[in-house]
Amino acid sequence: MSKENGKKKGFSVYWIYFIIALLLLGIQLFTFQKSGKEITVNEFFSRVVPSGDVERLVVVNKEYVEVFIHPDSLQKAGYEDVRTTVFGTPNPGPHFVFSIGSLEHFESKLEEYAQQYPYLKTIPVKYVVKRSILRDIMMWMVPIVILIVLWIFLMRRMSGPGGQIFSFGKTKARVIQNPDEVKVSFKDVAGLDEAKEEVKEIVDFLKNPKKYTALGGKIPKGVLLVGPPGTGKTLLAKAVAGEAHVPFFSVSGSEFVEMFVGVGASRVRDLFRQAREKAPCIVFIDEIDAIGRARGKYLVPGGNDERESTLNQLLVEMDGFDSRLGIIVMAATNRPDVLDKALLRPGRFDRQIILDRPDIKGREEIFKIHMRDLKVAPDVDVHKLALLTPGFVGADIANVCNEAALLAARRNKSQIEMEDFVDAIDKVIGGLRRKIVISPEEKKIVAYHEAGHAVVSWMLKHVDPLYKVTIIPRAMGSLGFAQYLPKERYIYTKEQMMEHMVVALGGRAAEEIIFGHQSTGAQNDLERVTQIAYNMVKKFGMSEKLGLVAFSERDEEVSFQKPYSEETARLIDEEARQIVYKAYEQALKILKENIDHLKNLAEELLKKEVLTKEEVEDIIGKPPASEVNQEKNLQEESIEATEAESSNGKPS
Ligand code: ADP
Ligand code: MG
Ligand code: ZN
Repeated sequence: MSKENGKKKGFSVYWIYFIIALLLLGIQLFTFQKSGKEITVNEFFSRVVPSGDVERLVVVNKEYVEVFIHPDSLQKAGYEDVRTTVFGTPNPGPHFVFSIGSLEHFESKLEEYAQQYPYLKTIPVKYVVKRSILRDIMMWMVPIVILIVLWIFLMRRMSGPGGQIFSFGKTKARVIQNPDEVKVSFKDVAGLDEAKEEVKEIVDFLKNPKKYTALGGKIPKGVLLVGPPGTGKTLLAKAVAGEAHVPFFSVSGSEFVEMFVGVGASRVRDLFRQAREKAPCIVFIDEIDAIGRARGKYLVPGGNDERESTLNQLLVEMDGFDSRLGIIVMAATNRPDVLDKALLRPGRFDRQIILDRPDIKGREEIFKIHMRDLKVAPDVDVHKLALLTPGFVGADIANVCNEAALLAARRNKSQIEMEDFVDAIDKVIGGLRRKIVISPEEKKIVAYHEAGHAVVSWMLKHVDPLYKVTIIPRAMGSLGFAQYLPKERYIYTKEQMMEHMVVALGGRAAEEIIFGHQSTGAQNDLERVTQIAYNMVKKFGMSEKLGLVAFSERDEEVSFQKPYSEETARLIDEEARQIVYKAYEQALKILKENIDHLKNLAEELLKKEVLTKEEVEDIIGKPPASEVNQEKNLQEESIEATEAESSNGKPS
C-alpha cells in the first residue's frame, strides 16, 4: 500500500454533508427576506388600491412590489396586522409585498386601475435593484462546491477501499520487504522441480550478481511463468518472495487497468520508480495478459488505447533499466499465446518457465503437501489417489483434500479415509452428487448410454483403458460418466483420434440401437467429436480431399474472416461430417456385434450405479484387443481423464 494511506483517513463523508448544510444555511441568511405582508396582485388591486391608502410603491428587481401605506391610514380598520412591527413600534413599511409575473403586465394593470382611481397617477413608483454580493457569490459557488464534492467522492470510490484520494497514478503494488512476512517457501511447492530450479537461479542472480556477470553474461531482466490455471504460478512467485531476501513487489495485471486514460501507464512508471529505489529487488506481475495482450489485434475502435499505452510504458520501463541494477521482473500468465510479441523479445521476458499439469509423481507430492495439515487415516493410499486424478492441477488437488476433510466431518469420522478422498475426487470431477431423483426411464437411457461408451472402448485397440463407469447423477447437469485412464501423450495418430471419436459416439449409438430414438444426453459427446473431426481436417491435414493443409484459428481471430475460400469451407464441413459419420457407423457396428455385453453391462449398471474396471471385466471378459496393454497402462502416466455427460433437458 502506498504511503498516503492513513493520512487522509479523517476525511469522511460526513464532512461533505456538513459543508452542504452550512452552504444552505448561508444562502438562507444572505438571501433577501421580503418584508411586509405577502399578498397577491389581485388582492392588491381589488382591496388595497380601492381604499386609496397607498402612499408609494417600490418595484424591486422587477420581481416584486413593496407597498407603503399612508401612515395616517394605518389607523383604519383592516391594517391591524401591519400597523406595528414585531417590537411594537410603528411600522415604517413596506406594509404589503406581492410578486409580479411580468413588469409589463403589472404596469398596464396599474394604468388600467388609474382610470378608475386617479390618485394612483400621483403616487410615486420607484424602481430599485437590490443585490447582495454575498448572495451572488453563494449563487455561483454552490454548484462549484457540489461539483468538487462529487469529484472527490468519485475519486475515493475508484481508488478502492484504501481511502487514498489523489493517488491514481500510484502503483498499488504490495511490497514485501521482510521475507518472514511470507509464509510460503519452496517446500510448499510440490513437483515443478525444473521450474523451482529456474526461479532459485533467479534468486541467486540477485544475491550474487558478480558470479554471473564476471564472465560477461547478462542477468535476465524478465521471467515469465507460463502454465494452465491452478498449476501454482502465483504460489511459486510467493515462494520466491519468501526465499529471496530482497524486496518483492507484487501486483496484478488488472490493477493497471482503470477507467481513466493514462492511469495504467503512470502506475507502471511509479512501480518501476519504486523498484529502482529498492534495487536489488523482484517485481512480480500476476496475470500479465490483462495488459500484455497483443496490440492492435482486436480492432475495437478506441477500445484498447489505454491498455496499449500501459503496455508501451511497461516495454519502455523494461528497456530502461540496466540489468546490473538488480531488478528482475517476474510475470505469470496462463495465456502466453495472446501476449504481445514485443514482451517476449530478448531483453524483456526472455526467459519462460513452463509450469505444466503435474504428472503422477507430482500429484502424489502435491497430495502429500496438502495432507500435512489434515488428519488422514493410515490406510490412505496417496499413490492410488494420484492415479485417480489424471489431469488435475495443484489447485484441484488442494480442493480435493479440502472436500475430503469436509466429507469426513459430515460423516462424523475422526479421520479422513480413502473413501472420502475418492468421493471428493468424484465430486471435483463431476460436481456434487445430485439429490434429485431421475425417473427410471431416464436412468435406463443413461445406463445404456454409458454402457455404450464402455463397451466400445473395451473393444478398441488404440483408446485409453476404462477405469470406471457411473450413472450417479451430479450437479452441473452430469448424469453419469465413463472414466478412462489415459496415457500421457503428446502426439496422436489418426487411428487414435478416430477411435476416440468412436468411443465418444458409443453412447449415442447404444441409445439408437436399444431404444431406437435419440436423446439430448449426447450433446457433450457430439461437441467433442465435432471438434476432433474439424481439427483432423483443418489442423492436422488428415483428410484426403483437403490434403496437407493446416489453418490455425488465430488467423481467423485476427482478420474476422476465414483464411480459406467458401469452396474450401464447404469441403471442410463435408469432410468433417464424413469422418464423424464413419466413426458413428463403426460404433454402431461394434455395439451390434456385442449387443449382449451392452445389455448385461447396462443392467448391472442399473443395479450397482458404479462399475469398476474389474467388475466390467467380470461381465464381458478381458478386452480382446490388448490385454497386456491395458494392464500396463494402469501403472503408467496419465493426462486428462474423464468425460461427463450433460443433460440439458429431457431426452426426446
Ligand atoms: P495459478 O497458477 O493459477 O496462479 P495458484 O498458484 O494460485 O495457481 O495455485 C492455487 C492453489 O493450488 C495454491 O494456493 C496451492 O494450494 C495449490 N497448488 C497449486 N500448485 C501447487 C503445487 N505445485 N504444490 C502445492 N500446491 C499447489
Ligand atoms: Mg495465479
Ligand atoms: Zn456420452
